[in-house]
Amino acid sequence: MAIKGREAPVADALVMFGITGDLARKKLFPALYELVQDGTLDGTPIIGVARSDWTADDLCNRARESLEGRDEAGIAKLCSQLDYVRGDYNAPETFKKLAVALDGAKVPVSFLAIPPSLFDEVVEGLASAGLTENGRVVVEKPFGRDHESAVELNDILHKHLREEQIYRIDHFLGKEPVQNILVFRFANALFEPIWNRHYVSSVRITMAESFGIEGRGRFYDPVGAVRDVVQNHLLQMVALLAMEPPASADAGALRDEKVKIFKAIRPIEPEQVIRGQYEGYHDEEGVEPGSDTETFAAMRFEIDSFRWAGVPFLIRAGKGMAETVTEATIEFKAPPRLLFADDDNEPTPNMLTFQMKPDDEIRISLQAKVPGSEMVSRNVELSVDYEKALGGEGPDAYERLLHDALLGDPRLFARQDGVEEAWRIVEPLLDHPNPVVPYPKGSWGPDEADSVLPGDACWNWSILGEC
Ligand code: NDP
Repeated sequence: MAIKGREAPVADALVMFGITGDLARKKLFPALYELVQDGTLDGTPIIGVARSDWTADDLCNRARESLEGRDEAGIAKLCSQLDYVRGDYNAPETFKKLAVALDGAKVPVSFLAIPPSLFDEVVEGLASAGLTENGRVVVEKPFGRDHESAVELNDILHKHLREEQIYRIDHFLGKEPVQNILVFRFANALFEPIWNRHYVSSVRITMAESFGIEGRGRFYDPVGAVRDVVQNHLLQMVALLAMEPPASADAGALRDEKVKIFKAIRPIEPEQVIRGQYEGYHDEEGVEPGSDTETFAAMRFEIDSFRWAGVPFLIRAGKGMAETVTEATIEFKAPPRLLFADDDNEPTPNMLTFQMKPDDEIRISLQAKVPGSEMVSRNVELSVDYEKALGGEGPDAYERLLHDALLGDPRLFARQDGVEEAWRIVEPLLDHPNPVVPYPKGSWGPDEADSVLPGDACWNWSILGEC
């Protein structure tokens, strides 16, 4: 069976490498549960492969643990489809056993929920057992730690897989509000004529988390904010906000446009960036003594295209911040004359905000006349809460992405050239990082972050027009 209008066949088996690990427990079992319930995985064998001395029953127990509170009949249905192959990824025997368990499946999808250092062994193993001809391989982030390692990883995957068989997960792209940016821009004719340097004065993106690294120092300390969220999630958001309308809804057309945006961004130099580290970071478990890993980064860059030349794009990401919020604000230019200002009030320009966290909302700020005899204006806000307006949250990101990989829809996955371009953009920051500036936990990061803003723009704009 293939999706309407597309050639890709639907998967007839799902292989989960790393099924005994943390990601599987937190995110993948809940996604599998939903996909079994909605029929996407109905009857499809799900085969876990890992080193632990487990049986299919142990795997079912892990699923039950991870799915606490869900319907028991649903869990039993999932368990009836689970199988387990025990083995080391460096042993050819493991893949022979897997081939037997797959029982001639024509389009197996292999999900690699494993560290990237193991991709080589697993892809070699799959190829040696003849399992790479028609299948797909889904790979987890991180996709490299710089441009060079991303190219190496791609070479490893391409030894046995064609690009169209590789599905690189950036789970951020699986989120409903992120996809909504595209629908908002290209399904409404209202904004497209003003979505350019003639009307937009800046684009600002914030991804703030009120919590710290929460005991994950061993993972986070060698990574930092630029690698963890800027190179992937936030540059993807820039691409969605800035790209040209794709020629079609096809995966190739969509990804071509994103890559064009990345190609039009010059490498970001350290002087365009403020790096910060929250106070107390060194006391976190797993952090190296004297570590200068950034838990905060703010940066400014431009997109060298006819549409965007001269418009500053500003990105800010941090942990240990005052609030948990992810949003992108488009600030439009002010009218040429402020006719309705008074001594106490200078009207602010129109802003359009896509908020993804804590709520999925779109807000537009407008000027409206204050009731009374004076002709003065104040800010008002038009807003839509998508969950309330459209009834429901939509699927979790992993559920959506697994669903797409099973059906052979690569639109929400990163393509090789896009990943490599995104590393090129942040490479100078990784090679020549500025010293980190300390900031108190629970703040909005170091004050120095304001220095990347243009004119009198501010990061935390509010409906009151205050920063
Ligand atoms: P874990 O270390 O918890 O799990 C690793 C898995 O790989 C286990 O199932 C382990 O099996 C298996 N494994 C490791 N080495 C071998 C081997 N030589 N042979 C056979 N099996 C092996 O990792 P995570 O689940 O945390 O992460 C997996 C991937 O997902 C990583 O790339 C990570 O960066 C990424 N990721 C994780 C997130 C998370 O929240 N955990 C979030 C986003 C991405 P066993 O235990 O049985 O030995």
